[in-house]
Amino acid sequence: MAKKLATMLTSVGRDQKFTHGAVNTVIQRASSIVFDSVQKQKQAAAGRSSGELFYGRRGTLTHFALQQAMVELESGAGCALYPCGAAAVTHAILSFVSAGGHILVTSSAYEPTQNFCKHILGKMNITTTWFDPLIGAGISDLIRHNTQIIMLESPGSITMEVQDIPAIVQAVRVKKPTIVIMLDNTWSAGVLLKALDLGVDISIQAGTKYIIGHSDGMIGTAVANARCWDQLREQSYLMGQMVDADTAYMASRGLRTLGIRLQQHEENGLCIAHWLTQRSEVAMVNHPALPGCKGHEVFIRDFSGASGLFSFVLKQRLSDTQLANYLNNFKYFSIAYSWGGFESLILAHQPEELSAIRPAGGIDFTGTLVRLHIGLENSDDLIKDLSEGFTRIA
Ligand SMILES: *Cc1c(COP(=O)(O)O)cnc(C)c1O
Repeated sequence: MAKKLATMLTSVGRDQKFTHGAVNTVIQRASSIVFDSVQKQKQAAAGRSSGELFYGRRGTLTHFALQQAMVELESGAGCALYPCGAAAVTHAILSFVSAGGHILVTSSAYEPTQNFCKHILGKMNITTTWFDPLIGAGISDLIRHNTQIIMLESPGSITMEVQDIPAIVQAVRVKKPTIVIMLDNTWSAGVLLKALDLGVDISIQAGTKYIIGHSDGMIGTAVANARCWDQLREQSYLMGQMVDADTAYMASRGLRTLGIRLQQHEENGLCIAHWLTQRSEVAMVNHPALPGCKGHEVFIRDFSGASGLFSFVLKQRLSDTQLANYLNNFKYFSIAYSWGGFESLILAHQPEELSAIRPAGGIDFTGTLVRLHIGLENSDDLIKDLSEGFTRIA
């Protein structure tokens, strides 16, 4: 029987060879690895892609421990590490495109992912077609002879649309099986949505968010299936992608409390999302676990739980002055990019700013959107803070 997630999170990557008898893994900082003999050097070179210590850029024991943990958690064949989530997204893509190629990207993708496609892939004569996140099996019609990658993100950035991944995977495998299907799986921390089990080839995360979990480090992970692992590993390596040992250690350490943190993010987030649905100021709540969210039925079917990031739309479009007064005066919600730490965060987007980053078509609301990351504070305190916020814009 498969180990329960909570148990897995406390044990993955903790082999004796990585801990040397301590509870946690060693931090092995290294560029050079010293070999006792020419024979040992040759042995290391031969095994450099399968867990032999070879050179710092190929990883040390600290990296191998995290990679093994991620592979077990996400049921992959291997895990590539990057200095941040953006590097994981861009280098996973670069590992599978070639000049003159074509990539399909969800219109709800994280804005830097969109900009990478426009400004970097564009330079290499690789074209991007943006698609509606709710396209499902309709993706078939957009596949061309030169389509190399499909890039998903579910729930979508800011507006939280949940994608029908099994329908997309099935349509792609029928039409052009060689296409590499990638998912930015940051929202689920790689554990609430088992992407590879649903047929995705590569599950990418900004480990910066829930895995690190304390807003004090940056790392990217990409777990690939057996079909894609060799190419992802070797091409990312050629592009010099790796993370330092200290941050890899922090990611492993973050895994130990990920289960319990996610549970609390979910509980607090749901409590606040439900409360928001009752407020007269709110036009809609985009929380995947609530029926108002696009793709909610798919969420119920495919995810085992929710994390703490969601958004809501106000009935009114706040003026700049109103918005500043609203955002500047929260007690527990800080204004910040990123998310996934223990603390609550808030950001707002005007509708016209959002339609500018939805290349496959606009948005269906006219009020100001507020994105919340719900942290580990007491939810009554957070509700009181949000309630006072509504008073400021009354
Ligand atoms: C934050 C984020 C990234 C980028 O991660 P960094 O570590 O900040 O580079 C990529 N995708 C999503 C969905 C994110 O939220």
